[in-house]
Amino acid sequence: MENNKIKIEFLSYSENEYIARGFVSVFASTFNPSVSWLSDVKTAVSEGVTNCIVHAYPNEIGKIILELEVNNNYLHINIYDFGVGIDNVNKAIEPFYTSKPNEERSGMGFTIMQSFMDDVKIESALNKGTSIFMCKKLLNSVEE
Ligand code: ATP
Ligand code: MG
Repeated sequence: MENNKIKIEFLSYSENEYIARGFVSVFASTFNPSVSWLSDVKTAVSEGVTNCIVHAYPNEIGKIILELEVNNNYLHINIYDFGVGIDNVNKAIEPFYTSKPNEERSGMGFTIMQSFMDDVKIESALNKGTSIFMCKKLLNSVEE
């Protein structure tokens, strides 16, 4: 697979999570992913983008950037928001930790991203925003 890179910018309307999932699907379809590989990637994107929609911009609509890059047999997915930020990333990534327990959140978003992707890095600064850098190795088979 040759190197390829594309990014989209969208607003934090909840409907746009669906578009983000579709975008990664279409991008990934260019390298014939297996159904389960693609499902893992879409789930990770969905969790990352939903976090921006739900947590980064609690009282406003803000900007989200989703960047996809394929190189050296890896798909890289970077998600950027410019919202409230996370004050304690170590705590935020703990399984079942959620700052919104009353909104039926399970606190499993980061845990899901970590289990479905090969690597997840989080950078965040209060009132500046959060960046998520994830990657997953491409599979060669069409179906697992
Ligand atoms: P779930 O994903 O299971 O619905 P959740 O979103 O609370 O619940 P995680 O996705 O694991 O759980 O996120 C943990 C916590 O990290 C969130 O409750 C929130 O406090 C914080 N967080 C995550 N992403 C962001 C973000 N983009 N901006 C600000 N805070 C965030
Ligand atoms: Mg979440």
